[in-house]
Amino acid sequence: TLSDRLTSVLQNLRGKGRLSDADIDATAREIRVALLEADVALPVVRAFIAKVKERAKGAEVSQALNPAQQVVKIVNEELVAILGGETRRLNLAKNPPTVVMLAGLQGAGKTTLAGKLARWLRAQGHTPLLVACDLQRPNAVTQLQVVGERAGVPVFAPEPGNGVGDPVAVARLGVAEARRAQHDVVVVDTAGRLGVDEEMMRQAVDIRAAVQPDEVLFVVDAMIGQDAVNTATAFRDGVGFTGVVLTKLDGDARGGAALSVREVTGQPILFASNGEKLEDFDVFHPDRMASRILGMGDMLTLIEQAEQAFDAEQAEAAAVKLGSGQLTLEDFLEQMLALRRMGPIANLLGMLPGANQMKDQLANLDEKHLDRVQAIIRGMTPAEREDPKIINASRRLRIANGSGVRVSDVNDLVNRFFEARKMMSQMAGRFGLPGGGGGKN
Ligand code: GDP
Ligand code: MG
Repeated sequence: TLSDRLTSVLQNLRGKGRLSDADIDATAREIRVALLEADVALPVVRAFIAKVKERAKGAEVSQALNPAQQVVKIVNEELVAILGGETRRLNLAKNPPTVVMLAGLQGAGKTTLAGKLARWLRAQGHTPLLVACDLQRPNAVTQLQVVGERAGVPVFAPEPGNGVGDPVAVARLGVAEARRAQHDVVVVDTAGRLGVDEEMMRQAVDIRAAVQPDEVLFVVDAMIGQDAVNTATAFRDGVGFTGVVLTKLDGDARGGAALSVREVTGQPILFASNGEKLEDFDVFHPDRMASRILGMGDMLTLIEQAEQAFDAEQAEAAAVKLGSGQLTLEDFLEQMLALRRMGPIANLLGMLPGANQMKDQLANLDEKHLDRVQAIIRGMTPAEREDPKIINASRRLRIANGSGVRVSDVNDLVNRFFEARKMMSQMAGRFGLPGGGGGKN
């Protein structure tokens, strides 16, 4: 894994205060080799390395993390990003049934996936129907019927006089049957070939045109490595697809195909299969895949803990200052920035227990207002932030002009700040918080 390659480079970084360009280059070299060994396509490797280097070189010295941890964090974040960032959910049709079509080479794991998907969908409260459109291989229909039975999901198969020998007709009839029997999701299993060929593509295109699927899932065997890129490109250009399913991840420790397919086709990976049994299947989680490729689960946990501990320390320091009435506008700005980095403030507050009662206030919480507050504080000199009492009329005018607001806005902020500081200090006194009681006002 990447971690084997990185470990020695990272060891050298531990003692250092700041990342040098030479350190970054050495790290980048190891990442490059590791990714190439994992069969990641060269253009993908190049783009990835460039991103990591750029971020590492521009990174500020972290107070929470040592340089080695900082590099791992960057590599991990870029891996997650390249794998798609967030988990992408299955698109469900507004008017059921949702039609999901499976495409991919023979042996990729489509039929197995159909069973896994059916079982998973059922567990989610859906009522899926499987449709057998692989009429190429003699046993393909029976195979789907077996998986369907295991998953407890019905299978629509061609019958004499009803689509025998014509996969496009079977697909159409299957979707009609789903509509009639009120199945809310239809999974259409199709035929594949050992290699990409025109007839297979044409058949897939015809099925797609006949049933207008909400999702076309390109099923790809993760063990085929570099070849995954060529196959994915051929399917993208030939049939087109809306998402990817990686199979046989149990046989591929390196995850190279995952990285390449996502980056080269631009389509998200929705699911992952990691075994022959129906339950060896899950929604694809970019973050879990990234830490698997990186192979540094423990290190990532440490990084998270270090960052949390650092945040807690800062919060505590701020609380002490708050209680003692020593809070400055600089602290205030820092706290606000920290809060805003965590996402839109209203969302954040909305997650707190009891937030329902605060709904009206939350609705009024205006991000633009916060921007203004931020601009005003930024327009102050360090001395003014440290001791807002020195902000006299002429300073207020200068700050207002400098930050593009009215003098009354500056007055407002300064007055509110004093009020808040007084209130905090009183509260701290009453509740016996650290440093409580005192006050500079
Ligand atoms: P299809 O030709 O695309 O329909 O592929 P199949 O569903 O018939 O699967 C081909 C073979 O791969 C079968 O032997 C499956 O049991 C096996 N298979 C499918 N998915 C997985 C997986 O995630 N892990 C492993 N180890 N085997 C799998
Ligand atoms: Mg099959």
